[in-house]
Parts: sequence; C-alpha cells; structure tokens
Amino acid sequence: MAATIMDGKTLAMSIKTGIAEAAFYMAHKPTLAVVLVGDDPASAIYVRNKEKDCAECGIQCRDYRLAASTSQAELLRLIEQLNRDISVDGILVQLPLPKGLNTDEVLCAIDPDKDVDCFHPFNVGRLWQGGGVYVPCTPAGAMALLQEYHIDPAGKQCVIIGRSNIVGKPMAALLLQAHGTVTVCHSRTENLKELCRKADILVAAAGQKGLVTADMVKPGAVVIDVSMNRGEDGHLCGDADFEAVSEIASFITPVPGGVGPMTRAMLMVNTLTAARRHH
Ligand code: NAD
Repeated sequence: MAATIMDGKTLAMSIKTGIAEAAFYMAHKPTLAVVLVGDDPASAIYVRNKEKDCAECGIQCRDYRLAASTSQAELLRLIEQLNRDISVDGILVQLPLPKGLNTDEVLCAIDPDKDVDCFHPFNVGRLWQGGGVYVPCTPAGAMALLQEYHIDPAGKQCVIIGRSNIVGKPMAALLLQAHGTVTVCHSRTENLKELCRKADILVAAAGQKGLVTADMVKPGAVVIDVSMNRGEDGHLCGDADFEAVSEIASFITPVPGGVGPMTRAMLMVNTLTAARRHH
C-alpha cells in the first residue's frame, strides 16, 4: 500500500488566500506584534517566515527586535505596552528566549485575548475544557489536515509521541475533544513500539530522526509527523522513516510540506480571529 501524502503546503496556501480575502474587507487591518529577543539564527528565520505569511494574508506585522542583553523588566514593559495598544490584535514572543529570561513569566504577561500562540495558562486551561478562542498553531494545523482528508478521530486509537506543552499535550487535548482515545508517549514510555502499533492515528513529535520505523505502524494507520529534524546532509526530515512507513500507512504527512506550513497558516488564522474579536 502506498500512503496518500497529506499536502500541508497546498492546504496552507488556500487557508492563507481565504484570510487575505477576509482581511481585505476589514477596516482595521489585523495586526500581529512579533517580539524577537537576541540573535538566534533559527528564530530569525521563523520570524522572517511569519512576516512573509503576514504580507501574504494582508496582516500587518510589527517587528520588535530586542538585544540579547534585554532585561526581564524591559521585556515585560514592552509586552505591557503591546497589551494596552488597541491597534495590536496578537502578540507573539518568539521562543526560545535567551538564557536569563523567564519564559513562563513572559508568556503569562501576554493578555490572553492577544495570545495568538495559545501559550497563556488561561488559554491552555480553556483548551482542555474544550472551549476557548485560540488553538495552538501546530496541533491546530495537524487537526486541519485530518479534517481536510476526512479523517475523523472519533472512536479511534490516537497515539502521540511527545508530551511537550507546544505539541504533544495540546495535540492530546484536541484529539480528545474530537472523541479520539488518546495515549501520550514520551521518553520514559515503556513498550513504545507496541503502543504505536495500536494506533489508528499516530502523531510523531519526539524530534528524533528515524524513531518511527515501519514495524511500529499498524497497516492502514494515519501518520502525522510533526517533527523537524536535520538529516546528516542537512536536509529536513521528520521522526518517521518516510519511505518505509508510507508503504504501511494509509495517510502520511511529509517533512517538509506537511504540518510545518499548516502551523504557519494557523498563526494567521488566530491573528484574524483576534482582529475580529477586537474590532
Ligand atoms: P520537545 O523536545 O519539547 O519534546 C519532545 C518530546 O518527545 C518530549 O516529551 C520527549 O519525552 C519525547 N521524546 C523524545 N525522545 C523520545 C523517544 N525516543 N521516545 C519517546 N518519546 C520521546 O520538542 P517539541 O517542541 O514538542 O517538538 C517536537 C518536534 O516537533 C521537534 O522536531 C520540533 O522541531 C518539531 N516542531 C515542529 C513544528 C511544526 O510546525 N511542524 C512546530 C513545533 C515543533
């Protein structure tokens, strides 16, 4: 069996086109404030991509670049200023922050109503209650892909590898909300292979190249590979052994071109949602 490749790139493009159409007719242009502290090259690329997405979607992107030496108090002052600025709909602080800054305190300082990353404890709590306004971008992107390919998690065994606050845990919340039966695996999980083999929907988010081999996948399973690892030659790859697993699975997301572009599109969706709430 050769799996259907779940094309996140095309779906993300069509979502962004829809956002651009909606934004075009809005008197107030949706506005995203992006805060980048320090000079981490990977973070700089992520921020550049966000600026590009905003430009494509008719969303105004306001960049705030701060030196790595910025103090916690200075960063909190900027966030407070952005919280009060009624022209700003969404605030995103690019992670990781440089050493010495308290990430938790910074994320908690963002007004939950402008928290388009959905990292504030208020929004995380709402997510687990099955409500809330914003959905964390990466799991939201994975769910949108499932929906696009008419894959309904209801009643299915859903196994997630990874329990981070950014991917694994919110993914579990969304799959539960969609009536899946959810198992969350992590680095201390025993019998990972056996658990994965039970999955109708397997979400790989460990950040470990080659972790998911074909013998860990149930024939016909859906494999959502969230991870972005670098191969020996520098190319981007997920956790799954793509060639072998796509012979076993019914659907699989490629890396790149699967969940990655969807994550970016979902940030735009959240920013549009924020602008609609505020104006
Ligand atoms: P993380 O390091 O915070 O979490 C990794 C999780 O995987 C941990 O819970 C850990 O216990 C688990 N894990 C690690 N090795 C394991 C193993 N051998 N067996 C079982 N569990 C194991 O990472 P993260 O922030 O959740 O990101 C995970 C991956 O997803 C990374 O590759 C990251 O680059 C990628 N990512 C992609 C997107 C996207 O847009 N596609 C967004 C965020 C993260």
